Amino acid sequence: MIKFCKKCIMPDSRPRIVFNNEGVCNACLYSEEKKKIDWEDRKREFLKLINEIAEFTKQKNSKYSCIVPWSGGKDSTSIALKLKLEYDLNPLLVTFSPLIENEIGVHNRNELSKMGFDSVMIKPNLKISRKLARRFFIERGNPKVAWDAGVNSAPLTVALNYQIPYVFYAEHGESEYGGLVLDDESQKKRNIREVIEHQIGDFPQNWVSNEIRENDLAPYIYPDENELKKTNITAYYFSYFFKWSMLENFHYVEKTMKKKFKTHPNKRTQGTFTDFDSLDDKIDCLYYYMQYVKFGFGRATRDACRMLQNDQMTRQKAIELAREYDNEFPEENFKEVLEFLEMNEDEFELIVNQHRNNEIWKTSIDNKWKLINSI
Ligand SMILES: [Zn+2]
Repeated sequence: MIKFCKKCIMPDSRPRIVFNNEGVCNACLYSEEKKKIDWEDRKREFLKLINEIAEFTKQKNSKYSCIVPWSGGKDSTSIALKLKLEYDLNPLLVTFSPLIENEIGVHNRNELSKMGFDSVMIKPNLKISRKLARRFFIERGNPKVAWDAGVNSAPLTVALNYQIPYVFYAEHGESEYGGLVLDDESQKKRNIREVIEHQIGDFPQNWVSNEIRENDLAPYIYPDENELKKTNITAYYFSYFFKWSMLENFHYVEKTMKKKFKTHPNKRTQGTFTDFDSLDDKIDCLYYYMQYVKFGFGRATRDACRMLQNDQMTRQKAIELAREYDNEFPEENFKEVLEFLEMNEDEFELIVNQHRNNEIWKTSIDNKWKLINSI
């Protein structure tokens, strides 16, 4: 039987989540811990790092001072803006192309570019990225496995090529959202083993098949660790230095970009109640829907928990929103997504149902799928 966290509404079917004896999840416990962190002290640590970066940039006469992995969404955009406007750095933004680009993403990236940011986009060829998305959707119910690997490798490959040793990622997901934290250091500096183990599952080198050669996988393969060490490349989490909140990031971006940052035109994205998060890839709605199928929590639960943990919502409201939106099917770009995955509707449904966890789903009398136990 699924249990739900007593403070937020996350079920214990979420991978790597752990509940304590009082039934509270590790993400909620971390959000309490965050309140006790001396953020002034962390800011001093950040300023020291900024000085080091400025010194390095001057010494090397480098055009860019650091790298920001940048989707064009509110989180990475807020980091880019802060580094440039508040700390006088010149970050080079690195985008790993969305699987199916959309107009909102392109618009938001262009608007930031107009504010004086240079960027690099790595766009792996669609022949291979489609094959990989299809394969991982079938095998793991997640079309974004390879994309995830690319998001992790591309900024470091660019860092190596440009010889820029400082990289700023957004938040440390394992501590913010409930997971296994390897050690204290991994909340500050990105540990690639943690990422491979928890996010991607295996090394892209293993994805060679009859149809895919190792060369085809170049955009997804993480650079050699010894090469990274030689250049002293270190990837930091912004969430170590500043208290992380997706809502506050959005408000900061909205204000700083003077309303040029576009949100979802329907005032919310399908499957949830927010209109400002994860907007730049047409396949994202399917990705979140599959979390609902596999683990029994949808995108509304995910968003509500993040806000609950930052005291931006009541638990009652979170429950209402989860009940209303979690099971909404991603109709909006469905046809285009199917075409991208080279799949018809029957095959799609078959695969979705193969990934349905029997411990959390049952069929009702009218032959519809229902959660055995929902919030
Ligand atoms: Zn919780």
